[in-house]
Amino acid sequence: MREGCALVTGSARGIGAASATALAAEGWPVAVNYRSDADGAEAVAETIREAGGRAETIQADVRDPAAIAELFKDLEERFAPVLVVVNNAGIRADGLAPQLGDDEWERVLETNLSAAFRVTRRALKPMIRARFGRVINIASVVGPRANAGQANYAASKAGLIGFTKTVAVEVARRGVTVNAVAPGYVETQLTDGVGNGLLEAIPARRAGTADEIATCVRFLASEDASYVTGTTLTVDGGLSA
Ligand code: NDP
Repeated sequence: MREGCALVTGSARGIGAASATALAAEGWPVAVNYRSDADGAEAVAETIREAGGRAETIQADVRDPAAIAELFKDLEERFAPVLVVVNNAGIRADGLAPQLGDDEWERVLETNLSAAFRVTRRALKPMIRARFGRVINIASVVGPRANAGQANYAASKAGLIGFTKTVAVEVARRGVTVNAVAPGYVETQLTDGVGNGLLEAIPARRAGTADEIATCVRFLASEDASYVTGTTLTVDGGLSA
């Protein structure tokens, strides 16, 4: 195992928590980032430790550039250099375009896209120096596909996919891969109350699980995925097929 750690943003619950746990099972020391739920983050870290892994919790609102800088400094000083980044923190603030407020637009773009940019920018130099790095951006099937009421969310996730491709080609020679995972419908706090009628549209006729997303994150972080870069791995039970 390489000398470094995996940072998963927003990993106190949901897909982030599952990804942190999956990466820890692979042998990565994991930084469990949270914004508000210290107890949730500690529970994730404890689960990892009980299974024999290493984990630290670290508070930072990824919308705050200063907090991102502090997070990396702190991890590098007291834990390990970051060699795997999972940009997972994400929110939605739905509304039809004519009713979407500036605040809803900005909050979603800042969290889902700008924060991923800032975290990735900060992470890349040490990865390039190490000649190894993995950036995995949690996108969505919404973005490449329309979803009425989510113009802000779709713009953020489509942006994230474009960002993924371009950064991937910039760093491909350096042993650093940059990919996206695009989940379909996974029952988490984010999707509370939006599932009605959706299952009919999914060929697999069920929601995905956070673990099914995490297993793809784990693959993209692995040595086995060294030639996979600039791509988006869709994990949606056939929804977008
Ligand atoms: P959850 O709402 O369960 O988890 C989101 C996590 O992100 C929370 O822990 C939240 O913490 C954290 N977060 C939000 N804003 C910030 C911030 N500014 N700084 C740090 N952490 C933050 O959602 P999911 O697990 O479902 O979503 C994870 C990712 O997967 C998101 O990017 C989402 O868009 C994407 N996705 C999810 C799908 C699904 O069906 N569930 C489908 C497609 C994509 P806190 O509450 O403390 O802010």
